[in-house]
Amino acid sequence: MLFSELGLGPDVLRAIEDKGYTQPTPIQEQAIPWVLQGRDVLGCAQTGTGKTASFTLPMISILASGRARARMPRSLILEPTRELAAQVAESFETYGKHHKLSMALLIGGETFTEQVKRLDRGVDVLIATPGRLIDLFERGNIMLNDIKVFVIDEADRMLDMGFIPDIERIVSKLPKLRQTLFFSATMPPEIRRLADAFLSNPKEVTVAPPASPSETVTQAMVLVHEEDKRKALRHLLRTEDVKNAFIFCNRKRDVAILQKSLESHGFNAGALHGDMVQSKRMETLEAFKKGEITLLVCSDVAARGLDVQGLSHVFNFDVPISAEDYVHRIGRTGRAGRSGRAFTLASPLDGKQVSAIGRLIKREIPLIAIDGLESAEFLSEDEARRGRSRGRGKDKERGDRAPRAERAERPDREERAPREERQAREERQPREERPSREDRPVREERQPREERQPRESLAAVENRRQEPRRDRDRDRRRRRDEDEDDTPVIGFGDHMPAFMLRSARRPAPAEPAEQSSQEG
Ligand code: AMP
Repeated sequence: MLFSELGLGPDVLRAIEDKGYTQPTPIQEQAIPWVLQGRDVLGCAQTGTGKTASFTLPMISILASGRARARMPRSLILEPTRELAAQVAESFETYGKHHKLSMALLIGGETFTEQVKRLDRGVDVLIATPGRLIDLFERGNIMLNDIKVFVIDEADRMLDMGFIPDIERIVSKLPKLRQTLFFSATMPPEIRRLADAFLSNPKEVTVAPPASPSETVTQAMVLVHEEDKRKALRHLLRTEDVKNAFIFCNRKRDVAILQKSLESHGFNAGALHGDMVQSKRMETLEAFKKGEITLLVCSDVAARGLDVQGLSHVFNFDVPISAEDYVHRIGRTGRAGRSGRAFTLASPLDGKQVSAIGRLIKREIPLIAIDGLESAEFLSEDEARRGRSRGRGKDKERGDRAPRAERAERPDREERAPREERQAREERQPREERPSREDRPVREERQPREERQPRESLAAVENRRQEPRRDRDRDRRRRRDEDEDDTPVIGFGDHMPAFMLRSARRPAPAEPAEQSSQEG
């Protein structure tokens, strides 16, 4: 199919041609005609599928006629993070370059004054994170009753980050008669309920996630003692042909510490995490995209959804707490059929998380040894728990205390919430609903030493990688099932959003008996 067959205006088509796109992606092919017809759309697609253009392109065509009034934007796009909001703004600039649409980006970390001035001049497209939008609304700087097109992007991420009550408030200020486009990478029941509440008779479009990372990504894991992880990372950075890489840490604090450590060892490294001021975040991201910085140490929250293509490597300095995040992280490399390499640094306390990842990706990540570094073994869960409860943190499995700066910090609210919430939810279940001790899944016992996975050379891992392709559909189904089971709902606090109290779908009314007998 060609872009010209989708019904987009000539100026948008010109911008697409300038950008060099030859064919719409599946989500664009499916969603654009419905958006242009004014229908609500429920899109199940993740970043990397061309999802942003699937709503920005038709919105430009729709908004091309008409003018915005002061403080009354004509369309609103909600994004969970500042970076994603900035990326969407960039798309509007690229695809809308032959139009005169005005746009405002309302994100935290920037001064209100400029943003308010922009709103006063009238904007066609308003792109915002929920918190900042509510702030400006409450100050009376903005009115939402002229919104014609409303987009909620990355809805599942919004749910994870606790933004749903904010979004409900925002939706309550929008006109009832509007077009709503709702995108989410996954569709757990909470998201479905939310979609049912916000959308009116939507067209549902679903596309497969981009090529499963494990098909094009060489994965390997190094299991060392916590205090050897930096040395192991430096070894990998020196021996691998690293053009550019994301290095993921689980905590913001560690991002800054690791970046400084890498710099002091002569590496060209930047940092990206949620506590940095916005201007610095943008500056660092730009420098990384231009190749002025080759290593970007980051947290999941900061890196999620960033449109950075063609990474040669991903390093997990920490094993991610959620197995899903592992897939997201390593999916940053090996995109568009190119090969990529992903290394994970595990410590003895990470056995449980590594098993969860193995179950999700249906394979074990090969363990490799690093010359000159003592290999470690995973502790059993009991041992790990005992180690922790004796106050020996993640970095303490060998007993000797790490320097203060390296000590593990409690994850901040954003990052620790899912796990805490899961525990809290379990606590909230009535006692009889909780699985009895006997019913709970038997914890994996520590493998006897001789059965443990042997360390391999990287070359052996490469050779073995020529495995048959996985059954993608089955994998997607399983991932979705797991999402439904595991995805934590967080961040409602004391507020119970209205959509949670509504049933997901109303059953169709039963036919009256008389009528059916007449018809029969
Ligand atoms: P997204 O899923 O919106 O994050 O888009 C992922 C990447 O795909 C972005 O770098 C887009 O510039 C690019 N892209 C979007 N649509 C197309 C297309 N039709 N052809 C080629 N690349 C595209």
